[in-house]
Parts: sequence; C-alpha cells; structure tokens
Amino acid sequence: MIKLHDKYFKPFISAKEIDAAISKLANEISNDLGDEIPVFIGILNGSFMVVSDFVKKYPKPCEVTFIKLASYEGVKSTEDIQRLIGLTQDLSGRTVVIIEDIIDTGNTLHEIYRIFKNEGVKELKIATLFYKPEAYKKDFKIHYIGIEIPNKFIVGFGLDYNGLGRDIPEVYQISTKQHTTNLVLFGPPGAGKGTQAELLKEKYNLVHISTGDVFRYNIKNETALGILAKSYMDKGELVPDEVTIKMLNTEVEKNADAKGFIFDGFPRTNAQAEALEKLMESKDSHINAMVALEVDDEVLVQRLLKRGETSGRPDDANESVIRNRIKEYYKKTAILKDYYTAQNKYFGVDGVGSIEEIAQRLSVVIDKL
Ligand code: AMP
Repeated sequence: MIKLHDKYFKPFISAKEIDAAISKLANEISNDLGDEIPVFIGILNGSFMVVSDFVKKYPKPCEVTFIKLASYEGVKSTEDIQRLIGLTQDLSGRTVVIIEDIIDTGNTLHEIYRIFKNEGVKELKIATLFYKPEAYKKDFKIHYIGIEIPNKFIVGFGLDYNGLGRDIPEVYQISTKQHTTNLVLFGPPGAGKGTQAELLKEKYNLVHISTGDVFRYNIKNETALGILAKSYMDKGELVPDEVTIKMLNTEVEKNADAKGFIFDGFPRTNAQAEALEKLMESKDSHINAMVALEVDDEVLVQRLLKRGETSGRPDDANESVIRNRIKEYYKKTAILKDYYTAQNKYFGVDGVGSIEEIAQRLSVVIDKL
C-alpha cells in the first residue's frame, strides 16, 4: 500500500506487465504501418512515460511530439476539457498516431478527433496503454489497446492523483476499504459464541455470520448444500473446506455494505483461514482479531447436553457426538490459535461467568483494537 495525499493505493500492474503491453503496442503498430513514417503524438502530462518507452521499442523510423490537454482533476474525470497547447507542426498528409496513457470516459478522445478533423492528416489512429471499457461512453474508434482495466482510479507510470504518483514505475489502484472491523469469534462448541455474537453485533454494528447457522438453515430448507452438509454434521464432523469456503464467500458477498463481520464457526481449518484472508484482501480489508472464549471441556459437555434439551439440535442430544465435536475442535481447529497468534491477533477471553461478564471481557479486547 502507498499513500498519496489522503488516499491509499495498492499495487495493481507491475512494471514488467506494462513493459510487455508497450512492446505489444509497438509491434502491432509497426506491422500495420509498414514503411510509413508516422508522427506519434503523446498527450501530456500522463503519456510521457508510455511515449518514452514506446518510441524506444518502435522498430522503425518515426517522429514524436507532444500536445497538452488537461483532463483530470482530482480522482474524477472532469467533463470540461481544456484547450490545446503545442500543436505547431504541419501534419497534412501524415499518418498520426495518438498515444494516450489512459482512455476512460473518452472525453479527451472526443477533443482529439475534433482538433484533428481540420488538420488534413492522411490517417489518424489512437493507441492507449490503459483502457477502461466500463467507463468509455463514446463511439470513437480506439485502434490499439495495451491493457483493459476495471473502472477504478489508478496512479503511477505517468498517471497522478492531484499531482502525485506520476513518477512511480508501476501502476497502483485506489483502495476502497469497506469492512473496518472483522472479528473471528472462536471457541469450542458450547463456549457461548452464538450468544456473545448477538450482543457484539448490536454493540459494534457488525454482520454476524455463523457457518453452523447457515448450514442448519440449508438443512431445514432441504437445499443441495444442506443435504450434503447434514451427512457430516450429524456425525459431528467438519463439512469439507471446499463447500464451506464457497458458502462463506457467498454470505460475505451478500453483505457488501457491512461495516464489518463477526465470523462465528469459521475458519475452522488452516485452509479456511487462508481463504478468509484472501477474501478480506480482495475487499481491501483484513481480519483484526481472533477473540476466543476459553472454557473447560467438562463445562462444555454439561452446557451442550442442557442446550440439547431445548435446542432441537441432533448434534447436541448425544454425549458421544458432543465429545467428538469437542475433540474435532481441538484436533483440527486449535491450530488456528497458532495461525492468529503468529500475527499477534489472538486474544483469549475467559468464557466462564455470566453472559454480561463475558460480554464485558470481550468488549475490553475489541475496544483496544
Ligand atoms: P456450529 O454451529 O458452529 O457448532 O457448527 C455445527 C456443525 O456445522 C459443525 O460440527 C460442522 O459439521 C459444520 N460446520 C460449521 N462451520 C463449519 C466450518 N467452518 N467448516 C466445516 N464445517 C463446519
């Protein structure tokens, strides 16, 4: 991540990828133009880097010049294009190739076509290093495209954010951090995760995702996912990672506007933890902490048997299934304690006491994050 003025940007396109795209443009254009000596015209300021690299790679004789039309102010492409500076050469009868760093809305391109209409050029071609198909609103033809990119603000390799970033040899993309507080609520079955999650979700305005609850909902509705999950859950075994990770991704996507998440019952394996990290990264976010409720095994068994009297959960009714779930938890899941400890993100909290006492202990940890 880098910071320019008030905004954060994350690495997006490497110098190597840019170099390859410029080589591709140079080859395509020289193949098309044959022995014609073209005039390459860079649009300042942004195109200075791409033009410089491009002409070095262009394998045949050519001329190069620059004109200036300002198009960016801040992060948004402005509607009004400023006037042209620098076109002094007679271009009549010449093959002109405009070299742009980026084409997004197409407003600059519109101006270019307008200006060159009266120049009597033999041919006008447009080449751009970056192109945003989702932003492009015009019909003018773009003849050569280096790399298509999504409609996000980028800096580097000639492109700036309020004057900064043009000098960077790679391209960075604006980081739109969405989810600010993401907690993994951890603890063996019966530790009281569900109860505490309900309180924390209200207090910190977070979305609570319990993978166990999502599976139970699917079982109740007899979905394909539910039928598959049931065969594992009834035995107190973990549902395969592939299935669980896919389901969790869907749940997170459903809550794109959330301020943050409480993940309850997920991750349970290293593979799930890594998948969660990737998912958060894709949202320019991260897991802030794993908060774990620590409760003694025998207390857990007694609590779950008691819950089984009223919860209707088949995996709570039978002591051997309960013990198997606790065993599975320590066998497979406790390694996650190491995973988050290594990142200084593991916080153990005593899970024995009244609901309010435990909630208070959790809040102390979360408020410090
Ligand atoms: P829970 O309600 O969290 O105790 O989960 C009940 C059961 O759902 C577990 O015993 C597993 O069979 C299944 N399950 C819930 N979360 C996961 C997960 N992250 N990975 C695999 N299986 C899960």
